[in-house]
Amino acid sequence: MAIHMEKGSVSIDAQNIMPVIKRWLYSDQDIFLREVVSNACDAITKHRMLRGAEEEMSVSVSVNKEAGTVTISDTGIGMTDDEVRRYINQVAFSGASEFMKQFEGDEKKGDIIGHFGLGFYSVFMVSDRVEIETLSSNEGAEAVHWESSDGMDYAISAGARTVHGTDIILHISEDAKEFLELYRVREVLNRYCGFMAYPVYLEDANAKPYEREETVEGETNEDGTPKKRKVMVDPKPSLINETAPLWLKKPSECEDKEYIDFYHKMFGWEDPLFWVHLNVDYPFNLKGILYFPKLRNDFGANEGQVKLFSGQVFVADNVKEVIPEFLMLLKGVIDCPDLPLNVSRSFLQNDGTVKKLSAHITKKVADKLAGLFNTERETYEKYWEDISPFVKFGCMKDAKFYEQVKKALLFKTTDDRHLTLAEYQTANEGKAEKKVFYTNDPKRQAASVALYTQRGIDVVVMDHLIDSNFQSFMEYSGGEEGLSFVRVDADVSGLTEESDEGAALDQGKLADMFRKAVGQAEMPVNLAALADVELPAIVTEDEQMRRMKEMSRLYGQEFPMPDRYTLVLNRRNATVQALAERDAEDETTQMLCQQLYDLARMAAKPLEAEEITAFLARSQKLVAMAAKTN
Ligand code: ADP
Repeated sequence: MAIHMEKGSVSIDAQNIMPVIKRWLYSDQDIFLREVVSNACDAITKHRMLRGAEEEMSVSVSVNKEAGTVTISDTGIGMTDDEVRRYINQVAFSGASEFMKQFEGDEKKGDIIGHFGLGFYSVFMVSDRVEIETLSSNEGAEAVHWESSDGMDYAISAGARTVHGTDIILHISEDAKEFLELYRVREVLNRYCGFMAYPVYLEDANAKPYEREETVEGETNEDGTPKKRKVMVDPKPSLINETAPLWLKKPSECEDKEYIDFYHKMFGWEDPLFWVHLNVDYPFNLKGILYFPKLRNDFGANEGQVKLFSGQVFVADNVKEVIPEFLMLLKGVIDCPDLPLNVSRSFLQNDGTVKKLSAHITKKVADKLAGLFNTERETYEKYWEDISPFVKFGCMKDAKFYEQVKKALLFKTTDDRHLTLAEYQTANEGKAEKKVFYTNDPKRQAASVALYTQRGIDVVVMDHLIDSNFQSFMEYSGGEEGLSFVRVDADVSGLTEESDEGAALDQGKLADMFRKAVGQAEMPVNLAALADVELPAIVTEDEQMRRMKEMSRLYGQEFPMPDRYTLVLNRRNATVQALAERDAEDETTQMLCQQLYDLARMAAKPLEAEEITAFLARSQKLVAMAAKTN
C-alpha cells in the first residue's frame, strides 16, 4: 500500500494550546531535548523487546548550525504512517491539554510545567518547522515523512528512510538559536540525558576533517628528532551518557570508592559522610542513592540537591512531592520509573504511590541512622555534629521519622561525650529529674556551667539555630511526659541541697535591701540553699520567658520584651547571713548588695559598659575600705 498524501489539523485542543505552551514554557525550553531523546531510547527498547536485536543501538544528536537544524536520530522501532497519525497527531496532545487546564490562572505555571514534559510537542517551543523521517521495523513497512510548522497543521507523505528508526529534524527558530550552539546542546544533554539507558552521541554536522601531527614509530629526522607526519582525522561524535549508573547496581556489589566517586562527579569535591542506597522492586520500583553531606551551621547555606529521575531520564531537582522536604538537605539521586515524565505537580501531590515512595524513602533514611547508631556508635557519634540539625529538623517535620530515630538522638555534653536522653537521665539520676540542663553558649555561660559540672551534673550543648525549636518540640510533642530543657542559668533546681542552714533568715528584709540597692523595686528575690556554700548569689532568668524574648527578637518585634532576672540568695552562705544582720539604710550595706548583684550577673553574662565602670569604681572603694580594717 502506498502512502497517500494527506493534510490535516492536529486537534482542536492544539489550536488553543500551542501558542500558550510556547510562551509559558519559555524558561524551560530545553526540556524538548529530553523529550525527544527519551522517546528515541523508548523506541530502541521497544525494538529490542519485539525483535530481540542484540547489536548495540544508540541515539545521535546532530547539530547543524549552517543548516539551522538539530536532528535526533535513533535506530529504534520507528512508526508506520498509521502510527504517526495515531501517536503524533492525536494521542500525544490530549494529555497535554488536560495538563494545561490544571494550571489555568496560575502565575507560576511556567516553572511548574517546565519541570515535566509535554512530550513530543515540546519541540515546537524551539522550532519553526519539524520533520519526522521514520521507518517502522514491521515487515514491509514503508517510510513516512511528517512535517508541521506550528504543531497544528501537518503534512504526511512518503519518507526517505531505508533503515528502521526515526529522525526528528528540528528547524530551530530565530529566538531559540542558542540550540544551534554545540556547547549549549551538550549542556542540556548532560543535564537530562546523562544516565539514559542507551548511548547518546552528540555530533557537530559542520565539523570538517582536520589535520593532526603524529609521530612516526621508529623513524627519526636527520637531526635525530622523532619523525612526524600529518594525518587527517574525522571528528568523532562524543558520548554524553553513562548507561549503567551506580544506583542501578546491587548495593552488595558497590564499593565505597564507587559511591564516593559518584558523589564527587555529581556534587563536587567534598566527601559525603555516608549514604543510603535505595533498592526496591516491590510494591513499587525505587532506586537511588542518598548522601549525607557535611552541613553548615547556617541553615540557609544547606541547599541540598536531590535529583529525580524516571527510568534514567532526569526529571527535575528537588521535587518535594516525591522527596520529603527535610530530606532536601541531602544530596543524591532517586529513580522512580513508575513516575511518568508527563505529569503535573498536582498529580504527584494526590497520587497514592508517590506518598508511599516518599514514606519509604524516609523510612530507609531513618533505618540507616538507627542502624549506624546501634552497630557503629563511635562512627555515628563522629557524624553527629554534622547530621544532627538534619535529624532534628526531620523529627519536627515527620512524626514517623521521629519515632524511628528517637532512640538515636544524641546530646553532646560540655566535656564532649554523647548521651541519649535515656543515658542522660540515668547518669544524672536524682539530680536532674525530668530535666536536661543545657548551655547555648559554653564560653559565655562557663561560670554557670561550672556550677553544674562541679556537682557532677552533665550539661549538654545546644547551640544550633534549630535547637530552641527542637527543645519545644521535645517538650510538647516528643511524647516524653514532663521533660524540660533548662538552660544552666534558668533556675536553681539542679544546684540546691536539703539544708536547714540559714532557714531562719528574714527573706523580706533581704529582698527589700537588695531591691533598694539596685534600684529595682519589682525584682524577684528568692532564698535558696545552694550546694556550693561559697556562692552568695546567682541570677536566673525564667526559661520560658527567655525563649519568648528570643523568639520576639528573632522575628524583629517592635517592642522588645524587658530582661527579667530573679536574684537567688544562698542562705547557707556566710556573706548573705551577715548581710541579713546589717542595717538596710547603711551606705556600705547598699554597696555590698550592688556588688553581689553585679557579681551574680557577671557569672551569667557580661555587663554593659557603664555597668562595668560603676562596678570597677565600687570595687575600688570596697577594697580601700577592707584595707583599712584589720
Ligand atoms: P509519550 O512519549 O509520553 O507517549 P510523546 O508525545 O513524546 O508522548 O510521543 C508520542 C508517541 O509517539 C510515543 O508514545 C511513541 O509511540 C511515538 N514516538 C515518538 N517519538 C518516537 C520515536 N523516536 N520512535 C518511535 N516512536 C516515537
